[in-house]
Amino acid sequence: MTNIIPINSHLTSTATPEWKQVLSNLLRDPEELCDLLNLKGNDRDTLKADCGQFPLRIPRPYFSRVVSGDLQDPLLLQALPQAAELHETVGYVSDPLEEAEFTPVQGLLHKYHGRVLLVLNGSCAIHCRYCFRRHFPYQEHQISAQHWQEILQYIAADNSITEVILSGGDPLTMNDKVLSQRCDDIASIPHVKTLRLHSRLPIMIPQRIDEHCLRWMQQSRLQIVMVIHCNHAQEIDAEVESALNDLANVGVTLLNQSVLLRGINDNVEVLEHLSQRLFECRVLPYYMHLLDKVQGAAHFDVPEEEAQQLREALSARVAGYLVPKFVREQANERSKSRME
Ligand SMILES: *Cc1c(COP(=O)(O)O)cnc(C)c1O
Ligand code: SF4
Repeated sequence: MTNIIPINSHLTSTATPEWKQVLSNLLRDPEELCDLLNLKGNDRDTLKADCGQFPLRIPRPYFSRVVSGDLQDPLLLQALPQAAELHETVGYVSDPLEEAEFTPVQGLLHKYHGRVLLVLNGSCAIHCRYCFRRHFPYQEHQISAQHWQEILQYIAADNSITEVILSGGDPLTMNDKVLSQRCDDIASIPHVKTLRLHSRLPIMIPQRIDEHCLRWMQQSRLQIVMVIHCNHAQEIDAEVESALNDLANVGVTLLNQSVLLRGINDNVEVLEHLSQRLFECRVLPYYMHLLDKVQGAAHFDVPEEEAQQLREALSARVAGYLVPKFVREQANERSKSRME
């Protein structure tokens, strides 16, 4: 048998992009987290308790923005497994949106007029402890070449679809090569005008917004919208700000969605500061999601009445365009329902 020499070895050894290295070196080990937080005794045991299907996952650039020594830090609370997650709460289910029935092709959700949402891959850089997709059957949503063709055919056959949304998981955890190819395939369907990316990467790992990424976005025929996910102004440091500026400079429209979270951003000063900080970075607030009733996240819930008061207080303090729409997603509705 002859030895098979990988002829591309000199090519594959070219430097891995910095963001990939950061993504493959996430904080995953509860022991390490306990050490970094200086936890002792009981606190250690709680943190190390079973995280179920949703293991610890924190990007280091994000963790570097946590104020050390503060266990109530709003960034830390989003990522830190807590014993309260294991409580079963009545009314909280594992597929709160009953998404299954809006899936004509695997990986594609067509729930609202004019736009489809694609779940191309399952991985996120961070595991947010309140996430409504925490029980999502990601493994069933790996897209094969054949599924991709079926998705494209479905979109091509319906010319009411003018916008394709890449969600997940996080689409920016895919390589630029794959992502730009997907984007080109979508751009070849004439009635599609807009590509929207829902991503937490610009916040989690701002290195992700590198030259390659900016180049394909700039070159696309499609109008690109990026909806980032930021819950607190402290998530935006100088690196994040510079990544957001780079995106705006290549013509990407930047919007933000947040989740209203008990103990993290359920306070009018925090919300005001968040909107202002986003605007400084050329991002407009879009949605403020009320928590989905997902099992394991009830301790983050802010009751609707309190959410309304917060929205009114915020409206009294900032320009109208800095007040996000407060919404709750409900099964069987034609759009996200606005809170009255
Ligand atoms: C949120 C969502 C969209 C996008 O809705 P917009 O109101 O345009 O932001 C599209 N499809 C699904 C299934 C969604 O959940
Ligand atoms: S990044 Fe988004 S999808 Fe992923 S765990 Fe966080 S909230 Fe959920």
